[in-house]
Amino acid sequence: MTYDPSNIFARILRSEIPCKKIAEDTYFLAFHDVSPRAPVHALVIPKGAFTDAHDFHKNATSAEIVGFYKGVAQVVDILGVHNSGFRQICNCGVNGGQEVPHYHMHILGGRKLGPMVSVVSDE
Ligand code: 5GP
Repeated sequence: MTYDPSNIFARILRSEIPCKKIAEDTYFLAFHDVSPRAPVHALVIPKGAFTDAHDFHKNATSAEIVGFYKGVAQVVDILGVHNSGFRQICNCGVNGGQEVPHYHMHILGGRKLGPMVSVVSDE
């Protein structure tokens, strides 16, 4: 998939759209999800143009990968969800349910989050 620079997270990175920022450095930006699915629901995105997790893991530099995941840890600490528990979710592609084509990690917490994956039948 080719990166689409008009996606909503690219626009947030360019400050064309506001966000409720949690933290930021050279490699990542973290902000609250506009439509939270749990009492705590944050998104962490890399500054680079990567469509999804696979693109990021294959093509980002080591510095970008370390910087991003250290950022995820920093955000977990800021949100204070480590002791109570939390979930990191990264949806990838159509079957993964990814809506925004810029790699991002969800951090959810503040309550028990239920089963890892809902069981659905499309037959
Ligand atoms: P995905 O389904 O791609 O893994 O998740 C995309 C997430 O981005 C969704 O949870 C959605 O609520 C969130 N989102 C979509 N547009 C915006 C926006 O403009 N601002 C913020 N803060 N979150 C957004």
